[in-house]
Amino acid sequence: MAQKLAAGNWKMNGTEASLAEIDAMIAAYPEPGCGVLICPPATLLERMSRRIGRGPIATGAQDCHMNAKGAHTGDISAEMIRDAGGAYVILGHSERRTDHGETNEIVNAKTQAAIGAGLVAVVCVGETLDERDAGETLDLVGSQLAGSIPDGVTGDNLVVAYEPVWAIGTGRIPTMEQIIEVHDFMRARLVERFGAETGNAVSLLYGGSVKPSNAAEIFAVENVDGALVGGASLKAADFGAIIDALQNS
Ligand code: PEP
Repeated sequence: MAQKLAAGNWKMNGTEASLAEIDAMIAAYPEPGCGVLICPPATLLERMSRRIGRGPIATGAQDCHMNAKGAHTGDISAEMIRDAGGAYVILGHSERRTDHGETNEIVNAKTQAAIGAGLVAVVCVGETLDERDAGETLDLVGSQLAGSIPDGVTGDNLVVAYEPVWAIGTGRIPTMEQIIEVHDFMRARLVERFGAETGNAVSLLYGGSVKPSNAAEIFAVENVDGALVGGASLKAADFGAIIDALQNS
């Protein structure tokens, strides 16, 4: 069985003052009934991890380099994320694929580096609106899964997030039928490639404009094991309502 996970992606948001949101989350959810993860900007990762200590919320980064160290100005390695207290790293987010030209091959190499360093990789896939309108969604998601995920993963070191690019930060979400179609497809592809035990143990997150008002409906979908949440993860009250919906699903 895949673990339920509510994951927050703070993107390029957050300074010291934002850690008050973490204090509020810890106070509200001392023992959440699902996994809870926050991926702050790299500048806050160590501070946030220390603040949480052995608490109920895991932390992670939003990207890592594929190499362990070296002359890569501005980058951070998977080992550095571990050293800063992170346990997860988001890889292949559409904003990285678009802004930084990350290909499936690059995401694959980063995923190997992350897993090799003992992190859980949250690999993101998803189609643009043009690709959806052209009827290419499943082909695209299938090739992103095949290309971005290395061999030998397990349910303990891989999470997959389906994030339609057109739903990220737009307030638009797919229909439940569209989410069902893609999540069932992803589950089938993972089972086909990695076997039933591993394929069924990988958590499949939906991401794209998840909010307190739509979370329960999305979490009721069979192969949705949680969410990757951007904007609504910045405030403890909103993210808390999403955690509530996941716990109760
Ligand atoms: C994201 O950044 O992964 C995301 C899903 O953003 P939002 O929830 O703001 O659409």
